[in-house]
Amino acid sequence: MIYILVLVLFFIAVGFFIGKKKKQAVVQSFPENWRNLLLDNVHFYRNLKPIKQAAFERRLMQFLSEVYIEGVGLEINDLDKLLIACSAVIPVFGFKEWHYYNLSSVLLYPDYFNTDLEFADTAKSRNIGGLVGTGRFENQMILSRRALYHGFANTTDKGNTGIHEFVHLIDKMDGLVDGVPERLLNHQYAMPWLDMIHKKMEAINEDKSDIRKYAGTNQAEFFAVAAEYFFERPDLLKRKHPHLYKMLEVCFNTKGNK
Ligand SMILES: [Zn+2]
Repeated sequence: MIYILVLVLFFIAVGFFIGKKKKQAVVQSFPENWRNLLLDNVHFYRNLKPIKQAAFERRLMQFLSEVYIEGVGLEINDLDKLLIACSAVIPVFGFKEWHYYNLSSVLLYPDYFNTDLEFADTAKSRNIGGLVGTGRFENQMILSRRALYHGFANTTDKGNTGIHEFVHLIDKMDGLVDGVPERLLNHQYAMPWLDMIHKKMEAINEDKSDIRKYAGTNQAEFFAVAAEYFFERPDLLKRKHPHLYKMLEVCFNTKGNK
C-alpha cells in the first residue's frame, strides 16, 4: 500500500514539474503587425540590421513569456507590452541570453504617481515615473505609462524611464542597487568604475556636466541615468564622455551590436 502511495506521489510531483517547465517554455512567435509598431516607436530597433532586428523580436517575446504585465486603472494594449519589453531587452541585448530572475510582473499606471503608489492624487507629490519594488512589491516593477511613452517618443533628450528602471534591476541582481553591477563588470573594473563615476557625479553636482542632474543623487542613480544616455544618444555620449562611454560599452557588452 505504502509503495503505491509513494508511486502516486512521485507521478504527481513529476507531472507538476513538467507542467511548470512547459509553462516557462512557451514563447509565442512575434506577431507580424507588431513590426510596424516597433519601427514607428523604437529608434533602437530601427537602427539595427535586419538579422539583429529578428533576434531582438525573439528576445521581446521571450521576455513577455517570463514576466506578467498588468494594468492598474487601464487596459494593457500591444504598444504598452512592446515598450515595456523593449525597455527590458535593450540594456541586455549585448548578452546572448538574459533572464530577469528578480522580476515577476510589471504594473503599469496611467500617469506619474507618488511614493504611496497613488496616482489619483492631487498634483505636487506625483512625480515618480517608475520604480523597482521592494517589500511587498518585491519582484515587481511599477511604471507610469506617460513616462514610458515619453521615453521612447523623445529621441533628442537623453532619457528613457523604462530603460532606467530595468538598469536598476540589473544592478540589483548581485543583491545591491549600488551602481556597481557585479554581474556585468569584471572585478578588475570595479575600482576604476567607482573612481570615474565619483568624478562625474562631482561635475554634475557642480553644474559642470550635461548628464541629467538626478545622476548626482547617488551611485545607483548615476548608473541608471548614464545608461539611459548611453542607449538613447550613444554618439553624443561617445563624443562628450569617451571614457564613460567605453566603460558602459564593456559593461553592456554592446560592441558589434549593430
Ligand atoms: Zn532611479
